[in-house]
Amino acid sequence: MENKKLVMIPGPTPVTRSIMDQMGRETVAFKDPDFVNDYKQLIIDLKEMWHAEEAFAISGTGTLAMEMAVANTVKTGDKVLVISHGFFGDRFIDMFERRGVTVDVLKAEWGTTVPLSEIELKLKEGYKAVTVTHVDTSTGVKANVEGVGALVEQYEDTVLIVDGVCSTAAEREYLEEMKIDILLSGSQKAFGVAPGLALLWASKKALARRASLGTIADSYIDFDKWLPIMKDPMKYWGTPTINLIWALKESVRLIKEEGMEERFARHEKDSRAIEEAILSLGFGILASEECRAVTLTNCVYPEGVDDVEFRKVLSEEGVIVGGGLGAYAGKLFRLGHMGNIDKHIIVSTLAAIERALHRVGQRVEFGTSVGIYLSKTV
Ligand code: PMP
Repeated sequence: MENKKLVMIPGPTPVTRSIMDQMGRETVAFKDPDFVNDYKQLIIDLKEMWHAEEAFAISGTGTLAMEMAVANTVKTGDKVLVISHGFFGDRFIDMFERRGVTVDVLKAEWGTTVPLSEIELKLKEGYKAVTVTHVDTSTGVKANVEGVGALVEQYEDTVLIVDGVCSTAAEREYLEEMKIDILLSGSQKAFGVAPGLALLWASKKALARRASLGTIADSYIDFDKWLPIMKDPMKYWGTPTINLIWALKESVRLIKEEGMEERFARHEKDSRAIEEAILSLGFGILASEECRAVTLTNCVYPEGVDDVEFRKVLSEEGVIVGGGLGAYAGKLFRLGHMGNIDKHIIVSTLAAIERALHRVGQRVEFGTSVGIYLSKTV
């Protein structure tokens, strides 16, 4: 009998039944009064829960949300600072350069972070915007967003853009307290919804920056086009992804039911236990201990394990994981553990990793990683 396939890549993540049910509902007109109310309430919840001035949920992916952040904060000739901890941090560079924006980059060696002292010094050069990726999915590194926020806050004319695609709804992110001006994300990771929604939260400072730009070149992603709809979804700009809006509303309901802080704590506890479990099987972890994300673990293979063979066998055992990116292709696999995943899923995942290791010829004491995970989480 074939094993059920668990999608344990770092997004999309497993979609829980009540969220799936919302995606399976009969699609209604986008001016259906009940849908309009649902959309309106969702935006209010997003604003309130992440302590933002405005929130947007529109059709698109995380990359669109990145582009939306860029388009609404800078113009040709501006200078920005990109703080990069991997592949997704770097993605901002091209986006800015295409707009004729000058980009300075502070890059960390993969697995580490750029020290705050370096950022502090660099900021003195004066930037219109600073970007930082809260969790870079290529490296599993978590940035010190609170620390960066405290530094950027001292510059009146600099907005802080945080990529939360691989962190929002799992790592702590409150705009007001953490001095984030734009937080952006997608539906398919810690929210546990299918891909297809671009999410963005904005502070007063970010909205003032948008106003100062006048008419911008982009139209679909212009804050000014979407703000009237976010306030009153009876109005139209682009057709809302109706079933995904419902699905996200259900995800937000689950988050409220669990509690934001409780959800962050669950991710923290589970991820630390998963790390120990993974290490016990002879894997290494790419991210240094002091900057490990709670949303994924990048597991470096022990000597003698072939990436392609291991991931094929693991898939036969019922677990799909992601491959390494860049210089780490073939050297590690990326294990997502965020969103609406319970202990059944985690225990099954670890047990499948043990079976796969055994099948590719590694010595495994069955139950080692599962035992460690359980002892740290019961
Ligand atoms: N930023 C980060 C940190 C990501 O992990 C991803 C997707 N893996 C993106 C941006 C891009 O998002 P999307 O694939 O939804 O466009």
